[in-house]
Amino acid sequence: MIDPTRFLDDLNRLRCFGASGVGKGVIRPAYGAADIAARQWLAEQMRAAGLRARIDAMGNVFGLADGPSILLGSHSDSQPEGGWLDGALGVIAALEVARALRAVGGPAVSVVSFQDEEGRFGVTTGSAVWSGHLDQGAADKLTDHAGQTLAEARAKMADLVTGGVDPARFTGFIEMHIEQGPTLDASGEQIGVVTDIVGIRDMKITFDGQQNHAGTTPMALRRDAFQAVSAFNTALNERLRNVVTPQTVWTIGHVSLHPNASSIVPGRAVFSMQWRDAQSDRLQRMEDIIRQTAQEVAATRGLELSFGPLLGLEPVEMDASLKAALAEAAAEVAPGKWRHMPSGALHDATNLSRLMPVAMLFVPSIRGISHAFEEDTHEEDLIAGVQVLMRAVQLLSP
Ligand SMILES: [Zn+2]
Repeated sequence: MIDPTRFLDDLNRLRCFGASGVGKGVIRPAYGAADIAARQWLAEQMRAAGLRARIDAMGNVFGLADGPSILLGSHSDSQPEGGWLDGALGVIAALEVARALRAVGGPAVSVVSFQDEEGRFGVTTGSAVWSGHLDQGAADKLTDHAGQTLAEARAKMADLVTGGVDPARFTGFIEMHIEQGPTLDASGEQIGVVTDIVGIRDMKITFDGQQNHAGTTPMALRRDAFQAVSAFNTALNERLRNVVTPQTVWTIGHVSLHPNASSIVPGRAVFSMQWRDAQSDRLQRMEDIIRQTAQEVAATRGLELSFGPLLGLEPVEMDASLKAALAEAAAEVAPGKWRHMPSGALHDATNLSRLMPVAMLFVPSIRGISHAFEEDTHEEDLIAGVQVLMRAVQLLSP
């Protein structure tokens, strides 16, 4: 059924497109030459597997079975410095399951590799446009860090476009992915059946104080914007403790001080505040605490406070029957070595949940490392994952 050698060979062949030369790493950002070549290669493999290859205007590559079918897949673009499995694993696993099931007469499986999941231009851009969450015209105006627009980037593969794909032909979507975290590796387990993809909130916060001389301004008279950020962070960590779970995360990932000089008391601090959790109401309670804490810090230190727009995505629950099939398959393939778990990372499945039932399964990431050249997974875990995926598709077919 599953041919482990064929599956691993194809994973390694995909890795050659944009191979970094450092370990198994890849450099294959969306719409770069390596990404476009990889997508052409994938379309050929889909055709060879008896699927109809289609590339839509965004560069999403589909391999379509005849008639209604389940859709399996992920993405084949990478971060500017990425690993060989992030996304690629889900695409090649889907291809292998489609081939293996075709050889035994079904059920039919379609395959997809979404474009720009890693967000060179937006967030999960290819599946966001395909699912109707993001309008193509609006997407085309998005720019990368170098100032190139998405419209310019996707023009580079315009000659490969063969047409759109109607989501209504798919009965559901299952995405296999590396965990990108330490849980399965640390527990010695092989399979994670995802329960929810966490929601995310992101907001800029600005403290405005008084820029002044760092030698002559007495401490008691300062309105130091950095000291406010520092006090805010300490107080926030303390206060969030009462509402969070061990899976909840929050991050101040970007701070800019003005004027950012050794001998000047900073007058302004702008920083990012991001938080993630699987429950919408917990995200809301965290927001209340964040706003209130910032207000108190600003008031006690005589600073002005302003909040930027609140950005975010809602948490998504996995479909109960797809999830149950994955759990049953995991119990068969990896008895005692699997668990239910949330996904702390965003995935294309979030966008697809607007259109159809979705589910995800994880295999371990060695030492929890991802978005890095060192990213890797033991071969036996890769193979266990693709076997669980195939078994779940069989269990779902009437
Ligand atoms: Zn990914």
